Amino acid sequence: MRREHGLRNIWRICAFLLTLMVGLGEAGQVFADSKPMIAKDARLAGDRERTRFIADLSKKVEVHAFALGDPYRVIIDVPDVSFQMPDGIGKEQRGLVTAYRFGLFAPGKSRIVLDIGGPFLIDKAFVLDPSDNQPARLVIDLVPTDAATFTAKLAESRAKTAASVADIRPPEPQVQPSRGKPVVVLDPGHGGVDPGTRGESGITEKEVVLTFAKILKAKLDAVGRYEIFLTREDDTFLPLRERVAFAQAKAAGLFLSIHADSVPKHPDLARGATLYTLSEQASDDEAKELAAKENFSDAIAGVELQDESDEVVANILLDLARRETQNRSVVFARSMVGELHEGRAGLHSKAMKSAGFRVLKAPDVPSVLLELGFLSNADDEKRLTSDAWQNSTADAIVAAIDTYFAKRLARIPY
Ligand SMILES: [Zn+2]
Repeated sequence: MRREHGLRNIWRICAFLLTLMVGLGEAGQVFADSKPMIAKDARLAGDRERTRFIADLSKKVEVHAFALGDPYRVIIDVPDVSFQMPDGIGKEQRGLVTAYRFGLFAPGKSRIVLDIGGPFLIDKAFVLDPSDNQPARLVIDLVPTDAATFTAKLAESRAKTAASVADIRPPEPQVQPSRGKPVVVLDPGHGGVDPGTRGESGITEKEVVLTFAKILKAKLDAVGRYEIFLTREDDTFLPLRERVAFAQAKAAGLFLSIHADSVPKHPDLARGATLYTLSEQASDDEAKELAAKENFSDAIAGVELQDESDEVVANILLDLARRETQNRSVVFARSMVGELHEGRAGLHSKAMKSAGFRVLKAPDVPSVLLELGFLSNADDEKRLTSDAWQNSTADAIVAAIDTYFAKRLARIPY
């Protein structure tokens, strides 16, 4: 319940956005230099009274830093950066900062996200020129405050934020509906600044699902009966609503969102693939928790969620067209369960579940979310990263897609 409440609050509280536009000057000179920018290292300094985040950059750039609440975060937007950071960086906890991460946010835009343990203020944000043997340095200074002051500051700067939020949003995909062959949209989850879950070996969900989606696309392309699109083809973050919009713009006949789960508390028990469809009421508590976790992707990346509401989602769920689409989603999910079972992909003991996944809410596109397995389970992690498993599982999904469309095109009633 708490998490659901928290998610609702994201819609509201994130609308109160504290923006600190940091004009760093010399922008002309900065952008005249076309060499790609490299971020080589980052570190934390100070304590709870004043925490400093420092990132070493190959040159001076213009940055845009702002705060978000629920959960507390600092978002730092920079132009396209090649992150060549040491392995394992970002897990350290110091002062007010509990962790940080970074990645491509949208084409040409990168983002650093700092997780903050409590209410705070951005006291300073600037970039130092390179000097002597020192690289250019991005510096963010944070100081603690109380929750009321934090909220008041967010409200105060609300007006200022509208323009900047619009500015940092990735562009809507400009795509044309396709004609002819049925369109299948594959959606590798997470990406860029949002790594998703992580396995023992350090491999991230965003890597596992992109690799798998590419293998599946190649197999479906080879079949020749479908037009296949990936929502992302590289390590770029994509907000959930844009994944949905992408499938709608392509007039997709099927949308398959691909993920990998993790339950570190039960590494041995939680294993195998699970298929999820959309429902208002979650099929069980685990499905509910998972939907909350997957829906959190936008918040992790610091995306604003102010143009939709639970009410809209609820109305869509009641819509008749939605129900028809929903029936088709369930038919497809069942077909997947059958084929994955046949293909010995390794199914979860309860292989079909449902919950309120935001990425599945296109009212006109049958949509299913596939959790390939659990990165918290050592056997699953091995399977998910092995060529043999990836190939046989992708074959099983191709068979399920064939079955689904064969029935659809023959107008066989479900
Ligand atoms: Zn995921």
